[in-house]
Amino acid sequence: MIRVDNVTIGYGTTSFIKAVDNVSLELGSNEIVGIAGESGSGKSTLMRAIYGDFSTGLRIQSGTIEGQFTDPQTGAVTQAPSTDFRKLWWDQISYVPQGSMSVLNPLMKIEEQVIDGLPRRERQGSRSELRARIVKFLSGFGLGEHVLDVYPHQLSGGMRQRVLVAIAAFVNPRLILADEPTTALDVVVQKKILLMMVEIQRKLRNTLVLVSHDLGVHYQITDRLVIMYKGQVVETGPTTEIFANPQHDYTRNLIASLPRLHGQRATDRVGA
Ligand code: ADP
Ligand code: MG
Repeated sequence: MIRVDNVTIGYGTTSFIKAVDNVSLELGSNEIVGIAGESGSGKSTLMRAIYGDFSTGLRIQSGTIEGQFTDPQTGAVTQAPSTDFRKLWWDQISYVPQGSMSVLNPLMKIEEQVIDGLPRRERQGSRSELRARIVKFLSGFGLGEHVLDVYPHQLSGGMRQRVLVAIAAFVNPRLILADEPTTALDVVVQKKILLMMVEIQRKLRNTLVLVSHDLGVHYQITDRLVIMYKGQVVETGPTTEIFANPQHDYTRNLIASLPRLHGQRATDRVGA
């Protein structure tokens, strides 16, 4: 459904700073794929390129990223390179960028920003009807109506992040890209958000890409794992296999540095 073919990505026009170096990978239509790797390894750059956001000066120097999305209702197929994905944003493709505070406007109440971000087809009915649908949807994740009526700073980091993840799912996207959605949150909140994401993916049977530098997070919910190191993919495979038998030195070190992992994976509990 998404095919990344030998892409090299970087920043700048006069001098090119390479951030992702000749990466290839495929994202299937019903799976949770994790992208792991230390800070600066190119995870966010790869995510932005897949999302098709070139506003930060990001440039695909060589290679291609192609997507094919099938609408589960109509069966209609959309095929496009990621340079054209913009027209699919908040429709087929949702994105939860790194740093929830920076993506929300501090001067706007949550309701306004949520509704502004939705595609026109969602905004066709009356405002109160749309609000009612959003409230109902949020309540499915244990989020009360009041979250819509406050400014971002009035919500805790975990709460803001849960709202962003829920809203990303509201449009029934075929692809959700979440960049470090649980970073800097405490373990309890982290777990809530991870479970929420598994639930969303199991319900929509779509593609969820989860970026985290934390392998413990990946262990919880990902089906497949892509390990990046210095802009390259050094290892990829089913998450449980990588944990059981890491091939690359870098992956081995990452796993060895984890505190002992306890209990079942969250995906085992939520069920496939
Ligand atoms: P990660 O998400 O794994 O921490 P990034 O994709 O953010 O890694 O960064 C990869 C490399 O690209 C780093 O060397 C970083 O400095 C560089 N980089 C990231 N964003 C930009 C940008 N907007 N302009 C220039 N260089 C950038
Ligand atoms: Mg990053």
